[in-house]
Amino acid sequence: MAERTETLVLDGKKVAESFLVCLKSKISQLKETTGRSPKLVVVLVGEDPASQVYVRNKTKKAQELGLDSELLVLPTKTSQLELINKVQALSADQSITGILVQMPLPKHLDPDPVLLSIDPLKDVDGLHPFNLGMILTGKPCLVPCTPYGIMQLLKAYRIDPAGKRALVIGRSRLVGKPIAELLLNADATVTIAHSKTQNLQGLCREADILVAAAGQPEFIKADWIKAGAILIDVGINRNLEGKLVGDIDFAGCLGKAAAISPVPGGIGPLTVAHLMINTVKAFELQCFGESSITL
Ligand code: NDP
Repeated sequence: MAERTETLVLDGKKVAESFLVCLKSKISQLKETTGRSPKLVVVLVGEDPASQVYVRNKTKKAQELGLDSELLVLPTKTSQLELINKVQALSADQSITGILVQMPLPKHLDPDPVLLSIDPLKDVDGLHPFNLGMILTGKPCLVPCTPYGIMQLLKAYRIDPAGKRALVIGRSRLVGKPIAELLLNADATVTIAHSKTQNLQGLCREADILVAAAGQPEFIKADWIKAGAILIDVGINRNLEGKLVGDIDFAGCLGKAAAISPVPGGIGPLTVAHLMINTVKAFELQCFGESSITL
């Protein structure tokens, strides 16, 4: 019989709340010193129900923290040119310091030229090619919120990726590629897996840190993972019973993994918190040319 390990549940909600308490006081200080307030504009094109929930949560959280925020809803039939013109106008508006265009866009719209039309200093989602490219330098920049949140969760629990074998499952621009780069910057030895990867189970068994961002309900089973592994579950899925679950079989991995982030209550709250952190960072970069946030 394999020995049972006490698995630490990585409480992303608690870590996110502690960041937001500090951020709230930083926002009031900034308002006092600059006489201005960071202002986030969230652009939603169309009526995708999941996106409507996400944007509402983001603007609500911004308001709770004392940030100015606005939700701009555009009709599904908005053309590529109309959307680019709108985003360019927001980028040029001095009173707006953070812009987020909610993805995915309706199918007829190409996200790339839209992201390119965001001022990189206002790109709070960190998806402009300038900010994505800056990650390669390891220098401070506006990092995409989910990967940023994952790194801060590891840091909060004093989990140092240096020298560890990390496996990232998923290669999206939003999660997989940037988290792989951040783990590499933190001296992990990183492998990226995707839907064409052969022998995924074998790779999982070698991973000291496993980041699952595939969007496949509970497909990573306890017998795939290494005993004592750190499991970061990014996936948000509904299982057959309609329950919200991650990509990892959470219950099955308890007692084998050293640590695991739950779904919900793991990476989700950290993603929203880091959007708020990026909104304040963007404001500071525009006001002072640098940010005082050292996270
Ligand atoms: P994408 O659909 O853009 O990317 C999924 C990636 O997973 C792709 O690279 C795909 O490979 C890979 N993949 C899919 N199935 C498998 C498989 N069976 N084996 C190995 N790799 C596989 O998704 P996102 O990156 O945007 O999001 C991933 C998940 O994370 C989703 O569940 C999403 O809802 C969630 N998410 C959660 C957030 C949070 O705040 N917690 C924030 C953002 C996303 P290929 O490239 O070959 O197609």
